[in-house]
Amino acid sequence: MKKNINWFVTALSTMLLWMLLVADVCAAQGEEGTLLAGAAVADITPEKGVSMKGSVGGNGIVNEVHDPLHARCVALRNGETTLAICVVDATSFWAEGMERAKTMVHKRIGLPVERILISATHSHAAIRVRGISTEPIDMKYYALVEEGVADAICQAVRNLAPAEVAYGVVSKPEYVKGRRWRIEAGSCGPNPFGERTDRAWMYPRVRNRLDPEPLGRSDPSLSILSLRHVDGTPLAVLGNYSIHYVGGFKRNCVSADYFASFAEELGKVLDAENSTGDHPSFVGIMSNGNSGNIAPGQGVRGYDGMRRIGRDLAEAAADICRNGPYLRDVPLAMVEERLELQVRKPDAQRIQWARDVLAGKWKIKPMHGWTHTYAQGTLQLAEYPDTVSPRFQVIRIGALAIASNPCEMYAETGLAIKEASPFKVTFNIELANGQNGYLPPPEQHELGGYSTWPTISSYLEVNASEKIKAHLLELLARVAG
Ligand SMILES: [Zn+2]
Repeated sequence: MKKNINWFVTALSTMLLWMLLVADVCAAQGEEGTLLAGAAVADITPEKGVSMKGSVGGNGIVNEVHDPLHARCVALRNGETTLAICVVDATSFWAEGMERAKTMVHKRIGLPVERILISATHSHAAIRVRGISTEPIDMKYYALVEEGVADAICQAVRNLAPAEVAYGVVSKPEYVKGRRWRIEAGSCGPNPFGERTDRAWMYPRVRNRLDPEPLGRSDPSLSILSLRHVDGTPLAVLGNYSIHYVGGFKRNCVSADYFASFAEELGKVLDAENSTGDHPSFVGIMSNGNSGNIAPGQGVRGYDGMRRIGRDLAEAAADICRNGPYLRDVPLAMVEERLELQVRKPDAQRIQWARDVLAGKWKIKPMHGWTHTYAQGTLQLAEYPDTVSPRFQVIRIGALAIASNPCEMYAETGLAIKEASPFKVTFNIELANGQNGYLPPPEQHELGGYSTWPTISSYLEVNASEKIKAHLLELLARVAG
């Protein structure tokens, strides 16, 4: 009996302590009409030996770090609404890991999981934290990322202080180029499945391009959400731009790509380090917009290219960051709702093809360099459920809205959402709250080519982009009130 009472007292005091901690950080409400903001960063650079390999491409095993990887977070509160956005330097980040990080945050500070948005930048010189791969998974590194993300979010909430917000958009068309061209069927290939039916190809030879310009649209918007303390010192900036990534740069070497260059350069442009005073350090963040089909152009590559783009975008953002106009009282809202989507699972014939390839029984000449990888991907995809229901979140910060999706969204879908949005400024954060692969619009699916070929990085139903667009517009209307 005494043992039971002791256990009860210990459990009760632990619970009370937890409740006090939570009350201390999160349950505390801001005054209605007063915006609070906080930001924080956690280092998630991998140790030597962690694999950067993925289903297609990858930079091998880490043995060098060009620039560190981070989880960068901003938190906002107005009255009863508190929310956090965390952008992670990873090629992708699986939903299960993000859920674990969100649960850790909830347990530590009480912030509801549906008020946390986590996304990956898609640097290809980082780790594919995706839980499914043709390579062994490094769970130790995954745990480090989840901890880092949770730490950054909790710290950003702890750093909440009275703040002002400004937002705007600058047009920067020079680094957003389509990477798919229309081709004559049969002029390129075969594709990994041995077919010559594709009518679109990624970077075909110039002589095979039917048009001088690539397919689809590109989105030139550099969207900026800038936060500063009420004494005017810079607090954090969340940028959004739509380049898939700049480069893998160098084999076995880690880099956070232009996303980090933007953050660093913006700090310099705003002289944030010298002007922070007693406040926590300034945090620059660049999120990935709608870039499933967009690259910076073939001439802009390497570490120089990433620094050049980072610096140029930071300078373009500076005017909004310096001059605003800044507002102190903006309504905050966030909604989350899942959407069920069909999976393009392989049929019996395709599964047999994959088995034959992996058994060395299927040979054609020439054979696409990714055939083996697509055969592995086919068998993995065969094990997927018939439908998936990823989370979609929409955030409102005054006249700015952020619509998020767990895919690599094509620019035309992102632009259609922006154009139909009821908000003055809207941007999309892709690879948010999971990784559900490429999201080509139906007309791009019809043409074929890389990013439509079914595998673990492209598997949603052909109409998925249309369903997601409609779903996000409905959520945008809901937060608009
Ligand atoms: Zn990619």
